[in-house]
Amino acid sequence: MNRTIGRIGASAFGIVTNIVKLLAAVGVVVGLTLLTPGVSAQRARTVATGAPRLVVLVVMDQFTSSYIDLYSSQWTRGLRRLLDQGAIFRNAAYPYGNTVTCAGHTTMGTGALPATHGMVGNSWYDRELDQTVTCEQDPSVTPVVLGTGTTTGKHSARFMKVPTFADELRRQSTRQPNIVSIAEKPRSAIGMAGHGGPGTVVIWEGAGGAWSSSTAYTDAPWPDAAAFVRRHPTNEFYGDVWTKLLPESQYRFTDDNPAEAKPAPWTRTFPHSLQSPNGADDPAFVTTWQRSPLADAFVTDMAIDLVRSRHLGRDPGTDMLAVSLGSLDVTGHQYGPRSHEVQDVLARADQNIGRLLEALDKDVGEGNYVVAFSADHGVTRIPEDALANGEPGGRFSSLSMMAEQLLLWTLGPGKKVGLADGAQLSLTKQAMAALKANPGAEEQLVAVLKSAPGTAKVFRGADLASTAETTDPDLRAWRLSYFPGRNGDYIIVPKPGFYFGPTGTGHGSQNEADQRVPLILFGRGVRPGQYLAPATPADIAPTFAAITGVSLPMAQGRVLGEALR
Ligand SMILES: [Zn+2]
Repeated sequence: MNRTIGRIGASAFGIVTNIVKLLAAVGVVVGLTLLTPGVSAQRARTVATGAPRLVVLVVMDQFTSSYIDLYSSQWTRGLRRLLDQGAIFRNAAYPYGNTVTCAGHTTMGTGALPATHGMVGNSWYDRELDQTVTCEQDPSVTPVVLGTGTTTGKHSARFMKVPTFADELRRQSTRQPNIVSIAEKPRSAIGMAGHGGPGTVVIWEGAGGAWSSSTAYTDAPWPDAAAFVRRHPTNEFYGDVWTKLLPESQYRFTDDNPAEAKPAPWTRTFPHSLQSPNGADDPAFVTTWQRSPLADAFVTDMAIDLVRSRHLGRDPGTDMLAVSLGSLDVTGHQYGPRSHEVQDVLARADQNIGRLLEALDKDVGEGNYVVAFSADHGVTRIPEDALANGEPGGRFSSLSMMAEQLLLWTLGPGKKVGLADGAQLSLTKQAMAALKANPGAEEQLVAVLKSAPGTAKVFRGADLASTAETTDPDLRAWRLSYFPGRNGDYIIVPKPGFYFGPTGTGHGSQNEADQRVPLILFGRGVRPGQYLAPATPADIAPTFAAITGVSLPMAQGRVLGEALR
């Protein structure tokens, strides 16, 4: 891996916000956010005179905030600089229940919460189509492949109900800004960028491994991005070996933890070889590459390249760069938050983010740009690892099967579950009608869901849709993840430490490990220090809006004014 890394390149708003949050919690937020634009715009005008040349959003997928406590002594470069010179919001957390990638990136991009922006999950069951749809799928667009390869992925922001900060920056600027959003996952790049338009580049790695965009964003490949992809073919890394970056003594916990998954062809321990049984152009190799830190290095290098080719931060006015590093998520799902693999991905991200900041210092100028660093969600400990260490935990691996069996038994063959996706269980129209027609059947189903050892509570879809007042914090959180037609009919609220899946671990609950993420501001106009006031990643877009003089009427987060000069 050293060889390959070397080759790659060496509160005036508090009251309004609280009212909006309160109203959001009871499900009537859409009409009432109209209260906020005057306030946001007024604030924005007063601070826009010192607007930065470039606003930068850096996201690490699945970075739970405890990583700062556990591993920050291992960081010396980019993450270290953010921690030492940034404004750190120690109590930042997502306020909603369905803590997944699409919801998190869109919340950072828009400043709104899922109940308003509509990207409530990575996927949901469409009862009319009788199929699962993903948050970014759009059959009306065509993939635009950059450089080489092919992909079938057709993606856009059509399900996103509000504009992003990037959309409003483009709409409200007198000079057309240059906007670049890059991520390994389409839902991440789209969540940060939004709907697209002139001067806006949105890039992701499509199904099959081809770097691409879609006709939602451009009719033809951007020549500079395509040239970068051609200069850096992924399959050049075939056969390379991922070894540890840091001296062995710096890693905490154990490399060979029996709770870790063994994603083929890898074992639980370093080194990890980048290969597949079928060769360099095989999807299994692409998955292996994505699970290695090489994917993050590629995204970082592409971002640095496009900063230069697109002159980001060079002209009067404000441009935007959004980068999401995804290796941590792919690694974390398999190896868990205490693994040497996760620590190594973080140590290498420290290097990558360092390189990015150093490039911005050189090309844009230190003091001319501002950075927000955060994550789209956290992660739960691997249940077996938690249990082995005396902490609560467990798995739901058989829950959807139990529910399905019960439906079959109660209603007869053919009454299938629409979608069992993590905490949410969606029924087909036919199954729901049959369930309702059978006296006592729904109660039985709910009783089965409640009987699982990891279930804390079960909500019905109607509980989320209701605007009746509640003091239940879990119901409030899940109402912030409710959007009509896009939620399960039954929502299982897991106890802390419980995860829906047969191996490894993940996220997607209202529990602290999934909700808590870092939130750091850094650079121009930022007052460094530790801030203990409540904050959420929904505050990033309103803060960017305030410092650039952009009005963001649908935002629900607050301006992090205490950290601004
Ligand atoms: Zn994610």
